[in-house]
Amino acid sequence: DKFKEGLTKTRNSFTGRVNDLVARYRKVDEDFFEELEEILFQADVGYETVEMLIDELKMEVKRKNIQDPADVQSVISEKLVDIYQGASSASVDLNMQEGSLTVILFVGVNGVGKTTTIGKLAHRFKQEGKKVILAAGDTFRAGAIEQLEVWGERVGVEVVKQAAGSDPAAVMFDSLQAAKARGADVLLCDTAGRLQNKVNLMKELEKVKRVIEREVPGAPHEVLLVLDATTGQNALIQAKTFKEATDVTGIVLSKLDGTAKGGIVLAIRNELEIPVKLVGLGEKMDDLQEFDPEKYVYGLFA
Ligand code: GDP
Repeated sequence: DKFKEGLTKTRNSFTGRVNDLVARYRKVDEDFFEELEEILFQADVGYETVEMLIDELKMEVKRKNIQDPADVQSVISEKLVDIYQGASSASVDLNMQEGSLTVILFVGVNGVGKTTTIGKLAHRFKQEGKKVILAAGDTFRAGAIEQLEVWGERVGVEVVKQAAGSDPAAVMFDSLQAAKARGADVLLCDTAGRLQNKVNLMKELEKVKRVIEREVPGAPHEVLLVLDATTGQNALIQAKTFKEATDVTGIVLSKLDGTAKGGIVLAIRNELEIPVKLVGLGEKMDDLQEFDPEKYVYGLFA
């Protein structure tokens, strides 16, 4: 399946190393855990999460009186799923409004895969029979509007836009009017991804959100932060900045297929307490999946 395929790079490096470790040790001792810790760090699992995982593994190994390193492997999978699910009870499902307009705002720095994610999600909703409109709210980056239009054409959905450099809040207003007038089910809104100036970013997002809130009570229903899995710990830093700038309700982790360090999913979940709702597993239209912690961990080891 797609999940397993998308995790090939991570699996090959991470699992290969765990297998090698298990083969080299005859008993589970302090050195074993130290090496395991190093493997987890290198998979970008993140400091806090690694510490937590190792502590829990040690307790479990003691409790179950596990001697054989081979038996630790299944405990690692179990604990990875536990850590993921225990970090927050927030749902990984998108907050969709049945029978009325759902507005989803996308935020994230340039190049992380925001436009691609919007295109993929538009495709998915369209396949579900929903009427979708895209709002070209990134009026700042050269080519952003055209790129969204390419996706609009590819998927077959309308894109509401204004000229480059125009006010994103005005684009949002137009898009909301269009969505209401056409009885759309979903409005997917692109935004500019400048992080250089946090105050500007915050102001712009606030203004855009205000327009949405005014036009559609209860919206935006999701504010999805797109992060590039290949940027590792940098993705965490970006997430912290965006979390301060706006209320992020979920994360889309793109390019999980492009990294051998897929452990970043766990670090994000554990250190940010924002659920990873979707993952990008390739560049094509249908390379977007709901994040499923069990499938993910299975994909790491299977
Ligand atoms: P934006 O600037 O945030 O809108 O980023 P884009 O959507 O333009 O994506 C930047 C590049 O990343 C493009 O070449 C995309 O094809 C690529 N990309 C986006 N998502 C994925 C993914 O899940 N996997 C892979 N391998 N590439 C992706």
